[in-house]
Amino acid sequence: MSDYFNSDTICAISTPQGNGAIAVVRLSGDKSLEIASKIFQPVGKDIPKHATMQFGTVFYNNEILDEVMLCWFQAPRSYTGEDVVEISCHGSIYIQQKLLESLVINGARLALPGEFTFRAYRNNKLDLAQSEAVADLIQSENKQSHDIAIKHLKGGYSSSIKELRDKMINLAALFELELDFSEEDVEFANRDEMFLLLNTIEYELDSLIKSFELGNVLKNGIPVAIIGKPNVGKSTLLNILLNEEKAIVSDIPGTTRDAIEDVININGYLFRFIDTAGLRKATDTIEAIGIERTYEKINKAEIILHLIDLSNTDESEVFNELKEFSEHLEDKSKKWILIGNKADEVNELPKWFKKLVDLNTIFISAKRNENINLIIDHISDYVEQKKMTGATIVTNTRHYEAMLRALDSILSVKESFANNIPTDLVAIDLRNALYHLGSITEEVSSNDILGEIFGSFCIGK
Ligand code: GDP
Repeated sequence: MSDYFNSDTICAISTPQGNGAIAVVRLSGDKSLEIASKIFQPVGKDIPKHATMQFGTVFYNNEILDEVMLCWFQAPRSYTGEDVVEISCHGSIYIQQKLLESLVINGARLALPGEFTFRAYRNNKLDLAQSEAVADLIQSENKQSHDIAIKHLKGGYSSSIKELRDKMINLAALFELELDFSEEDVEFANRDEMFLLLNTIEYELDSLIKSFELGNVLKNGIPVAIIGKPNVGKSTLLNILLNEEKAIVSDIPGTTRDAIEDVININGYLFRFIDTAGLRKATDTIEAIGIERTYEKINKAEIILHLIDLSNTDESEVFNELKEFSEHLEDKSKKWILIGNKADEVNELPKWFKKLVDLNTIFISAKRNENINLIIDHISDYVEQKKMTGATIVTNTRHYEAMLRALDSILSVKESFANNIPTDLVAIDLRNALYHLGSITEEVSSNDILGEIFGSFCIGK
């Protein structure tokens, strides 16, 4: 980590590795322009101006390397807060490497992972939470994670944390006031006011902690189970959804999804389809265990698409199945959609299906790709509602852990407070809570933590 604290001039290729139409090589530090000028010859005699592109030639060992565009940002009006030069060259790997080499020969140092963002943090351009949002933004693969990262980067998240922290500081001030007068054995501060503040803080911390679960679900994919008896058309429906949405089926680093799960991007939201064995009546113990496992998975899903074959099911069968299903379902608040499939095989919807209209019912033909859009609308609407637009959502594990610790300290404060423990002891817990909350956006002094945060970035960022 110690290298991150140098203030020499650093350089790196900031675009992805490999050939491309163009690539960007970036420099940051007070010698940026001086070093770049040694290898760059502008066309004409333009003097570099802040945030203005200049066309010119770059050289390697006095030989022409490429024609490039150079842009200079004068400190502090740059990403890092230092003098920054960005050179856009042609995207050949050879050119990129030689250009970088040339900058190093002329005095720049190769940047460490995340070092540009670290400098932005060090120069107060971004706080810690915002720096982490830069990494999230780069990695965002869908509208949801992008929305959250942008909000965090723009400081909305940091200001919610700061507001909460201000409340804690307020409370701490009331405590300190009491401490000052403890010799005289007076309860100086208004205890009701303190208690109210304490409860508000606890409630707000708790909501943030709960939002982590939602944040993770939105970031890694909302779990959806397609269930139903064998042959109702579960695989057919899944394939249709995959093809319809030109699915991005990708491995998301850091998630614990099974290899068999498919992740689909629908209207900008990621849905993670959980594979379940068909629902059927258990005829022996082994099958019963299998069915228990299926229900365990169903209980982990946020959305359940329950398929029933319209062409080949009678009323008592359906009602038995629904009864059994509802007995096994632990959380009745899950989004559950009953889907009658194989509508193409019936002239009229069966009477039993009509009786269920009050539930969330849809009829489709998976095979003919009919009414699939209704499923898509239903599940997208569900997420929109769930998202609670405007609410702060925690997605970062480091922040989540800091909040858990802060809440722990706040609960101790509350307990001590209720038991009339001396104020100076309570104040220690309160200071701890403040420290943990503060560590989300600032005040991290440990090099290890900084190294962990910035070391996980790619080089050039
Ligand atoms: P799963 O066991 O629930 O995964 O069912 P499958 O997706 O494998 O489908 C079982 C059979 O039903 C296959 O022969 C499918 O072609 C057929 N099938 C699926 N959906 C429909 C549909 O909407 N209409 C008709 N007529 N057949 C369907």
